[in-house]
Amino acid sequence: MAASAAADRVAVPTAPDRIVIENCAIATVDADDTEYASGHVVLAGNRIEAVGAGRAPEDLENVVRRIDATGHLVTPGLVNTHHHFYQWLTRGLATDHNLFDWLVALYPTWARVDEPMAYTAAQGSLAMMARGGVTTAADHHYIHPRGAGDLSAAIIRAAREIGVRFTLARGSMDRGESDGGLPPDFAVESLDDALAATEATVREHHDASFDAMTQVAVAPCSPFSVSTELMRRGAELARRLGVRLHTHGSETVEEEKFCHELFGMGPTDYFESTGWLGEDVWMAHCVHMTDSDIDAFARTGTGVAHCPSSNARLAAGIARVPDMLAAGVPVGLGVDGTASNESGELHTELRNALLVNRLGGHREAALDARKALRLGTYGGARVLGRAAETGSLEAGKLADLVLWRMDTLAHSSIADPVTALVFGAPAPVTASFVNGRRIVEDGRLLTVDEDAVARSTRDEARRLATLAAPS
Ligand SMILES: [Zn+2]
Repeated sequence: MAASAAADRVAVPTAPDRIVIENCAIATVDADDTEYASGHVVLAGNRIEAVGAGRAPEDLENVVRRIDATGHLVTPGLVNTHHHFYQWLTRGLATDHNLFDWLVALYPTWARVDEPMAYTAAQGSLAMMARGGVTTAADHHYIHPRGAGDLSAAIIRAAREIGVRFTLARGSMDRGESDGGLPPDFAVESLDDALAATEATVREHHDASFDAMTQVAVAPCSPFSVSTELMRRGAELARRLGVRLHTHGSETVEEEKFCHELFGMGPTDYFESTGWLGEDVWMAHCVHMTDSDIDAFARTGTGVAHCPSSNARLAAGIARVPDMLAAGVPVGLGVDGTASNESGELHTELRNALLVNRLGGHREAALDARKALRLGTYGGARVLGRAAETGSLEAGKLADLVLWRMDTLAHSSIADPVTALVFGAPAPVTASFVNGRRIVEDGRLLTVDEDAVARSTRDEARRLATLAAPS
């Protein structure tokens, strides 16, 4: 399908439509951190054609829209590297628990998720992120109750409708309570079912082309919910199919204890022993990392999805992001599931990453505004294996970008727009483009009816709560 779509594009002889955005501050987040106090971006079809200082040339052809973005900061679109969309229906529960107690409290409810719920929850999660400047998102979906339908297809459909570039991390769990795992037995798949369904999802939905809107990764859930065999064979499957690998790692002290008791080693050594360190792997959290763990991630190019709000919510600890960056570990940001980060927004994670890491390290320069913006854009694209395509504003890359309004009460007295974006209140999104298509206008989604999504997510959350209530 992807190949014929590419052939169709080549066959079209006419020049693509152009959109010009000008008179705005620009933070390109390229390798040199190039910025323009007043500059322009030209989009041609689904690509960025030019970025530069001053106004765009007046004589450009095929300009269908010229946006005067005075008072705005333009950045690459934000990239969310870790989420669990289905949790949109279980927000605000078990609010005072640590990770393991929280999981045990919620597994029975999650095991009731069906196809309409997965679709609606994905709509809610994606809509919330998209209206806050996310242009690429990943969903780690590891709950596949028997008879629940094709949840992967439902989630992918929601992402296509919202219009966000998307990676489905097809998750799985096969280590139930009776095998020493944390989830109840009724919430897990068999090893063979998990592998077969994951392979089928990759074959049906993964698009390897440059401007793919949908990709699929192989994503067993965590060491305490997945057998060693599924970890090993999952890694082999991903490499055979040429897709990425994702899981949770080193999230809490309880997980570390679990790994030592069951495997006789810490999480990072366990991952290495099962083939789970490499440039094609990204891992959520990585809070409890020793110096040698960080070295192993740097040496192998293993990526990290840093989720500061969720880590705070579950009292997991503070990831050593400045040390990871100094060592050369690829790091992006993640919302994490909204049962442990009820806001569901990524742009607030820029600020939280910066503040939390300063608290943890007691180092004022541990992260600065520009490093935080890089984590949320280029860093995320790199972690998802898409840094050649998106994550920075450079000619030839995909037209994924955001116009943040900086001239309102919230930000107008802060001179530096990147400082305003990261340190200040969440900035209004005037426009967000994905693949050259505008999906947000003046803070509202253009692709779906937000109020309808609000109603359907409320209704499905109630239906789930009723189904899960003890009879
Ligand atoms: Zn997670």
